Amino acid sequence: MMSELRLLDKTFSPYLNADEIALRVKHLAEDLERDYASRKVLFVSVLNGAFMFTSDLMKALDLSLEISFIKVSSYEGMASTGKVKEIIGLKNSVEGRHVIILEDIVDTGTTLLKIDEIFKSKNPASLEICTLLFKKSEFKGNTPPKYVGFEIPNKFVVGYGLDYDESGRNLSELYQLKE
Ligand code: 5GP
Repeated sequence: MMSELRLLDKTFSPYLNADEIALRVKHLAEDLERDYASRKVLFVSVLNGAFMFTSDLMKALDLSLEISFIKVSSYEGMASTGKVKEIIGLKNSVEGRHVIILEDIVDTGTTLLKIDEIFKSKNPASLEICTLLFKKSEFKGNTPPKYVGFEIPNKFVVGYGLDYDESGRNLSELYQLKE
């Protein structure tokens, strides 16, 4: 049984338990196996939030694949451009590969748009997004992620890799900020 959770100064309510998440991850794995049966996939996991989702999804997958991990760092660029995002940690060659980006959550899609842009410029054979959580109502982009674990309302969530001020990433379940 999940119960209410206190993290730092906030209270969170149970949202999705470990069994519900595991079942959905299994179904996502089945979708990916069907779509990529004959292709070798390069999975690119966006740290830190996607670490737990990546681990469980990779264990559930029976596919020929490679896994790489990246971080998206925001830094202050030129005064005129403001905040610029860059990708660090990508070692694998992307050109001609079937790439699937693994995200914990897509909210407005700003982060995703930047990642998408950078990867497209490296000429992959194909490029798709797989996200555990999708705040569809907040999404401002043109192309929503192809593989989505759960569409969720616009409420702050923690657990299963996602943090509140670096706390809560280790939780096996997902919690929602209590009003
Ligand atoms: P976007 O660029 O899509 O607006 O935001 C994506 C990023 O915002 C995510 O990678 C994540 O770091 C953060 N984020 C958005 N919504 C939530 C949420 O409900 N919980 C947590 N922990 N992070 C969130």
